[in-house]
Amino acid sequence: MSYGRPINPETTIVRHDGAILHRELEVDLCVIGAGISGTTTALEAARLGKMVAIVDGMPALGGQAVHSIIGTFCGLYRNGTHGHRFTFGIADEMLAYLEANDACFYRHGPMTTVVHYNEIALSRWVETSLDAAGVIPVTGAILREVEREGRRIKAVKLVTRYGDVTIRAESFADCSGDAALAYLAGLQCREPDEKVYGTQQVVVEGLNLDAHQPERDELSERIAQKAEKYGLIRHGGIAFYFPDKDVAVLNMTHLETPLDPIEASRMGQIGKEQVDRGIRLLRDEYPDFFGNMRVRSYGFPGIRQTRWIKGAHHLVVDEVVGQKKFHDAIARTAWPIELHNAPEGFVWETFDENHTHYVPFGSMISPEADNLVAVGRCIDGDPAALSSVRVMGPCMAQGMAAAQALDLAGSGSVHQIDIAALQSRLSDNLTRTDGVAP
Ligand SMILES: Cc1cc2nc3c(=O)[nH]c(=O)nc-3n(C[C@H](O)[C@H](O)[C@H](O)COP(=O)(O)OP(=O)(O)OC[C@H]3O[C@@H](n4cnc5c(N)ncnc54)[C@H](O)[C@@H]3O)c2cc1C
Repeated sequence: MSYGRPINPETTIVRHDGAILHRELEVDLCVIGAGISGTTTALEAARLGKMVAIVDGMPALGGQAVHSIIGTFCGLYRNGTHGHRFTFGIADEMLAYLEANDACFYRHGPMTTVVHYNEIALSRWVETSLDAAGVIPVTGAILREVEREGRRIKAVKLVTRYGDVTIRAESFADCSGDAALAYLAGLQCREPDEKVYGTQQVVVEGLNLDAHQPERDELSERIAQKAEKYGLIRHGGIAFYFPDKDVAVLNMTHLETPLDPIEASRMGQIGKEQVDRGIRLLRDEYPDFFGNMRVRSYGFPGIRQTRWIKGAHHLVVDEVVGQKKFHDAIARTAWPIELHNAPEGFVWETFDENHTHYVPFGSMISPEADNLVAVGRCIDGDPAALSSVRVMGPCMAQGMAAAQALDLAGSGSVHQIDIAALQSRLSDNLTRTDGVAP
């Protein structure tokens, strides 16, 4: 056994000289946030031949889809059980990877098709596909400062545990969920005037597949009946099961997700405590099925809505319910209004089988900036409207639109692009009606 060369005790001593290590990057597109929105934006831009950097405050890529263990792709399919899809492109590549790795399950109905996935496989898809596309990852990097000249963002300044990084780019995508880029650039943003609750998700294993498995309505009703006794904030909950696997993702908590750093950390602890209470409830109520369950992993706190841009268009719930077909529509979905605005429950308003609502490009751009597009949780709308367009299917469609729009804008303005040309590039995501799920 070799222990390697002995070190030279004289030459291996270092002392901080006060200078912070500083790295600089220059790229075509800088994407802030590596969740499903940022990943899709970066991949689509790379496919257009752009040099792309993707930044995330976490030490690994994947955002909430991976690290908060969301567990299910919603909003990708039309309502009904035929499995016709709304969003194609990067979503095709992702679904093919998950299928090839036996890491997803298509649940057809009762309302629509959703895709349950294994979060570890999804994280490898994110990492390997970004790597293969030549996207430069900058992880563990928190956005600290934004350099803006008039209507153009010029650079972002990041802090990491190893030193600082400056990224200069022609275009920027704010996929941070919290509009971190737009906010630090001094652009107008919005914060909710009523709370929108997040959820601490958890993966459990050790379910007894020979026992009665409580389905959605039964489970939610039982949790609601017993929640108070177990000290649960939320009175209801959902379990996402995988056929023939003794594993489920539980979504049965509510927690506040404040923008204050100390308060946000405290809520992380409260979320896990709520999960533990929920697990005690399920074990007691369904001893045959849940009696031997163990926690496999707690996600990071799941954040639904905190801060978002003030866009050129403010999407309102009437436009969602009324299926308004915007002149600048770039994405579509039929996901219900799913507004978690009360501690004990949430608004769940579903649509009929023919329903389609749209995301206008105007909700993704700030009236004050020419080279910035927001994607995903931080586009502009009222909380009810946003609750129906921020699930991961439409986030992917928005990511493709952001990359295409910034490509069309080049060194010009996203406010002056040819919208018909953008829509033609996105035609599958706006008009295609097939795509049958396995
Ligand atoms: C509990 C919960 C359950 C949900 N259930 C479903 C579901 O079943 N199906 C579904 O489709 N959708 C679901 N959603 C919605 C969906 O998960 C999210 O809306 C979606 O994941 C948003 O993706 P995103 O990429 O926009 O944001 P995120 O995944 O939040 O990514 C944002 C990234 O930006 C990074 N970031 C933020 N600020 C900074 C900064 N200052 N510096 C550097 N990096 C930063 C973060 O670290 C993060 O990785 C759920 C959401 C929650 C919270």
